[in-house]
Amino acid sequence: MKLQKPKGTADLLPQDMAKWQYIETMARAVFEDYNFQEIRTPMFENYELFSRATGETSDIVTKEMYDFMDKGDRHVALRPEGTASTVRAYVENKLFAPEIPKPVKMYYIGSMFRYERPQSGRFREFHQLGVECFGMKNPAVDVEVMAMAKNFFDTVGITGVTLHLNSLGDSDSRAAYRQALIDYLTPFEAELSEDSKRRLHENPLRVLDSKEEADKKIVADAPSILDYLSEESEAYFSSVRQQLEALSIDYVIDTNMVRGLDYYNDTIFEFIVNIKGQELTVCAGGRYDGLVEYFDGPETPAFGFGLGLERLLMIAEQQEVNFLPAEPLDVYIAVMGDAATVVASQLTESLRRQAYKVERDFSNRKLAKQFQSAEKLAAELVITLGDNEAETGNIKVKHNRTRKEVETTISAVSNDFSPIFEALLINED
Ligand code: ATP
Ligand code: MG
Repeated sequence: MKLQKPKGTADLLPQDMAKWQYIETMARAVFEDYNFQEIRTPMFENYELFSRATGETSDIVTKEMYDFMDKGDRHVALRPEGTASTVRAYVENKLFAPEIPKPVKMYYIGSMFRYERPQSGRFREFHQLGVECFGMKNPAVDVEVMAMAKNFFDTVGITGVTLHLNSLGDSDSRAAYRQALIDYLTPFEAELSEDSKRRLHENPLRVLDSKEEADKKIVADAPSILDYLSEESEAYFSSVRQQLEALSIDYVIDTNMVRGLDYYNDTIFEFIVNIKGQELTVCAGGRYDGLVEYFDGPETPAFGFGLGLERLLMIAEQQEVNFLPAEPLDVYIAVMGDAATVVASQLTESLRRQAYKVERDFSNRKLAKQFQSAEKLAAELVITLGDNEAETGNIKVKHNRTRKEVETTISAVSNDFSPIFEALLINED
C-alpha cells in the first residue's frame, strides 16, 4: 500500500516554513506589544465542550466535528476552534481569581480540525491564530483588540483590508430581532435554500450568513438588527464606533453580518479583503459575555477573534508580501578524510555555540559536490577541512562570493570567530 497523508491535510514543507514563521513571528511581536500572552490547550477535548459552546445547531457541531470514541469509551473531539478551549482553561485554572489582574489577555496559534469537504483553501486540519481577552466589558477593549488585528495586518504587509462591524445587542435585543426576522423570512420560506429553511426554525439569524445566492437576495432587504438594540446596547455600540474613529480606523457597518457561532453578543466584526473580485474574511470575532458563566465560571465578559492562517498566507502570497527569506548559512564546512571528520564535529559545535548557523558535509563527497551544497544553502563563508588541516590546525576561511580568504587556525575560530566573520563580511564589496 502506498502511504499518503489523510484527506484534507497538508505537509508544510521546509521551504514553506519561512512564510509560516514570518507570520507567526509578526503575530507574537504585535500581540505581545498589546500585553497578550500565549496559551496552549489540548488538541482534543471532551466532545461536549464544543457542542455546548458552539451551539447544537451550528455547522461545526452538526456537520464538521472530528469526533470519535477513544479506547476508554470517552466521546472526544479534535478541536474545531480555539475559543471554547480557552474559556474552559480560564475557568478550570481559575484565571478569574481576584489576584490575577484583569483583563486576562491570551493568544493561541495551532491546528484546528473540521470534517469538511476538502477544496481549495479548505482543509480538515488547518491553522488558526486567535486572541481572547477576559474580564472587562468596555468599548475600549473591543477597540483595542480590533486595532491590534489591524496593526497585525499592517505589520505583515497585507493591504486593502476592510473592517466590517455590527452589533448583536444583548439577549433582549436579539429576542426582539429574532421575531422580526422570522416574520420577514416566513413569506419567503419556499424560496430559501434547504439549509436556510432549517435555520429559519432553529436559528434564524444564521440565514443572514448564508452563502447561497437565492438566500442572499432575500436577506438583502431583511430588517436590521441595529433597529432592535436595547438602549444600553445602542450606547455601547456608538461608543465603539466613536473610539474606532478616534484611532482613525475605518469601518463599514454590515447589518447582515452574524457570526457562525452562537455565543456572541454586542460587537462583532470581520476583516475582509477583496481578492480578484472575491470577498474573503481573514479575521472574525466579537464579544461573548455569557460563555464563561455558561461553563460554570463567574460572570465574565470576554472579547476575541480567530484568524485562519492558510487563508492569510494565501492572501499574502496573492499580494506579493515580501516574506523575510530563510536565514542563509553563515558557514559551510567542507570535510575530506577520516581524521577531519571528528575535527569538523568539534568546529561546527563550537561555531554553533557562538550562535553561527553552520552546515557540514557528512559523506566524504568530492569537494566540488560539497561546494555546490554550500552554494545551494547560500553559505556566506566556507571552511575546507582535510586531514592536513586537522593535523596542523591551520585553516582558511573563504568568502563564497568575493573569494576573499583569511588564514587562521582552528583554535582561533573555536575561541572567537567574530573578528574573522566580520572582517570577511564587512569588506564584502
Ligand atoms: P466559513 O464561513 O468560511 O466556513 P467559518 O465561519 O466556518 O468560515 P470561523 O469558524 O469563523 O470560520 O473560522 C475563522 C477562520 O478559520 C475562517 O475565516 C477561515 O479562514 C478559517 N477556516 C475555517 N474553516 C477552515 C477550513 N476547513 N480550512 C481552512 N481554513 C478554515
Ligand atoms: Mg465553516
